[in-house]
Amino acid sequence: RHLVKHFPLTGGLLGRKIQLLKAVDGVSLAVARGETLGLVGESGSGKSTVGNCILRLIEPDRGDILLAGQSILTLTGQELRRARRRMQMVFQDPQSSLDPRMTVKKIVGYPLEVHGLAASSAEIADRVAHLLQEVGLSSDHLDRYPHEFSGGQRQRIGIARALITEPDFIIFDEPTSALDVSVQAQILNLIKDLQRRHGYAYLFISHDLTVVRHISHRIAVMYLGTLVESATRKELFDHPAHPYTLALLASAPKPNPLLRQELAVLQGDPPSPVQVPPGCRFHPRCPHAMEICRDTEPEQHNISPTGAASPHLVCCHLYREGHRR
Ligand code: SF4
Ligand code: MG
Repeated sequence: RHLVKHFPLTGGLLGRKIQLLKAVDGVSLAVARGETLGLVGESGSGKSTVGNCILRLIEPDRGDILLAGQSILTLTGQELRRARRRMQMVFQDPQSSLDPRMTVKKIVGYPLEVHGLAASSAEIADRVAHLLQEVGLSSDHLDRYPHEFSGGQRQRIGIARALITEPDFIIFDEPTSALDVSVQAQILNLIKDLQRRHGYAYLFISHDLTVVRHISHRIAVMYLGTLVESATRKELFDHPAHPYTLALLASAPKPNPLLRQELAVLQGDPPSPVQVPPGCRFHPRCPHAMEICRDTEPEQHNISPTGAASPHLVCCHLYREGHRR
């Protein structure tokens, strides 16, 4: 809720703080059990920082993080460790997130050791073997090293490591971006299957709308540290409303390569979280920018049809007259 994370940039004489990198500037999200929320945006939009704050891999400046209704920012010691077990992360690059000197048994079983969750090394080996099968790898692989696996298999190992503490909530940060296209779909399907079987809640971070569309129930679009639009997947793709979302959709590769459009439809300089424009952050690049957009930050408007189960939220002055679609 209302997460804020600014990074001071030091430089100049005596290393004084000269600027703030406003990575995340007031982001609120909710994910339900069994649900995947896709978080999409360009690189530098703050998506990964949101994920890292939620897991307290970095501490947010402001805001709150609730797990099953309880704030985890106030937890310490044993309680914090328990909450940590319930929330896991799968990283982008399985190559660099798996220690090359550790066997698969060690990598996947390590969280059990750290948290003291297994009675013996035989129990750890048992549970790791079971999980390897669950993610589509042979349990014969226990004593192998990461370099003996393909990129897709390594990501399966990364997923097994996230599952071993029996979490409720898993963050995937670009889990398929480093993989060949042919392998991406297999990993996405595995991630979906696991959710169907166990009811995990997912936050799925990606710059790739095609991937997010494949996996998400709801989608939130980030731009320069803020959320600009969120809706169910169907609503967002059938009725995209924010000019930035429209630009993202227009630049996404089309399934038919003959119809593929120019990738760069977004005009103006690429966004910098150090120099955040006043008013609407998107205004220097927005084809619909008005006078008010230059100095007034837009509020959030719900534009879903009356009676819709899930809100369709848009932060844009175009919708300030209470316009609903
Ligand atoms: Fe464009 Fe203005 Fe809407 Fe921002 S608030 S997206 S500048 S129309
Ligand atoms: Mg990132």
